[in-house]
Amino acid sequence: MSKQYNNKCSFCGRSDKDVYALIQGQNSTFICDNCIAEAGNIIKDMRSKSALPNTEKHLPKPTEIKKHLDQYVIGQDHAKRVLAVSVYNHYKRIYHKIEKKDDDVELDKSNVLLIGPTGTGKTLLAKTLAKMLNVPFAIADATTITEAGYVGDDVESVLLSLLQSADYNVDKAQNGIIYIDEMDKIARKSESSSITRDVSGEGVQQALLKILEGTRSGVPPKGGRKHPEQPLLYIDTTNILFICGGAFEGIDKIIAKRMKKSTIGFTADSGINVEATNELLKEVEPDDLIHYGFIPELTGRLPIVTALEELSDDAMLQILTEPKNSIVKQYMKLLEIDGVELEFTEEALKDVVQKAKKRKTGARALRSIIEEIMLPVMFESPDKDNLQKILITENGVELIFDKSKNKKRTA
Ligand code: ADP
Repeated sequence: MSKQYNNKCSFCGRSDKDVYALIQGQNSTFICDNCIAEAGNIIKDMRSKSALPNTEKHLPKPTEIKKHLDQYVIGQDHAKRVLAVSVYNHYKRIYHKIEKKDDDVELDKSNVLLIGPTGTGKTLLAKTLAKMLNVPFAIADATTITEAGYVGDDVESVLLSLLQSADYNVDKAQNGIIYIDEMDKIARKSESSSITRDVSGEGVQQALLKILEGTRSGVPPKGGRKHPEQPLLYIDTTNILFICGGAFEGIDKIIAKRMKKSTIGFTADSGINVEATNELLKEVEPDDLIHYGFIPELTGRLPIVTALEELSDDAMLQILTEPKNSIVKQYMKLLEIDGVELEFTEEALKDVVQKAKKRKTGARALRSIIEEIMLPVMFESPDKDNLQKILITENGVELIFDKSKNKKRTA
């Protein structure tokens, strides 16, 4: 790698006098340090681009994203639209940054905050988006993220789980999506909120702020504490899309107060009027989050806030049967493999919805109730010869046998 004299870079034509280093290849070809650096950047861009969900031409448009979400998530129309636009803009910004090298224009990342009761589809929306775009996805719980140095999951372990989802491909992980649940639980205790526990409030918010803004973090690929013998993988969070979620119980009161609608949304006895609360939540603004106990810098990094609605009985009923991978469809498929038909009567499904509502965990309870009904059926049905159909009614399970086959066998 000694310095050559009277030679020129085969790429840019600069002579050895004008460059720091000229490196000789085969057949008297040369490359200068400038061209090496440039080639390095081109390769870096190619790598990042190949790790993006699609080429710009094929980046799904907001309407396509929404259509896809509709197949898996019932209702929540407004949240779907907001997410579709945010995700589209997010990846478009990344392409733009790589292609145009337009560093003058600050392309701010728009992380999203989803507010809404438990079991209404916040995690499902984030997960479905990541799957559609084929980008790595990780779920973290805000309450288990601690300030660095304290026991608990720190920021690195969240990034590690994203890295694992990307099969340890750092470029891919850096373009992934992280869903952070339980955001409301890290709000500072404040008089106006109904939060009773304060996991560590501001410190955790500061730690989160760092990754939302964009930081480079060394992740031990095997997990655990950082160890001098374990080389670190460095992840830059600048292009990671953070979708945060939380129930934010009581925020409707803060919104109502700001809007001077102090009594709307609450009935005297239960304190909850679902429709009016849904309407109020749609009006949520960053200032309400500050009142709820978020530091202003954190709300600044979550510029897109949208609310999910409490699910109606009809929506719960649809969730049972309509999504592409609905729980009922999954059981039907499982039994179909054994040649057995499965049918739930409308009344039986309505019954499941009513039972689920009592558990107050939104649509989450639907799965466990269906599983409770199906477990004995799935346990015993493989032993039943000539079983043709399983009919679930509000009164119980009916097994219907194929008599013609029975006759054939006895004949
Ligand atoms: P959370 O809002 O608490 O994040 P999840 O998205 O985890 O709720 O929902 C829990 C489960 O309930 C999901 O896995 C899904 O099966 C079901 N579910 C909730 N909301 C919906 C919805 N809007 N459409 C379809 N399924 C839903």
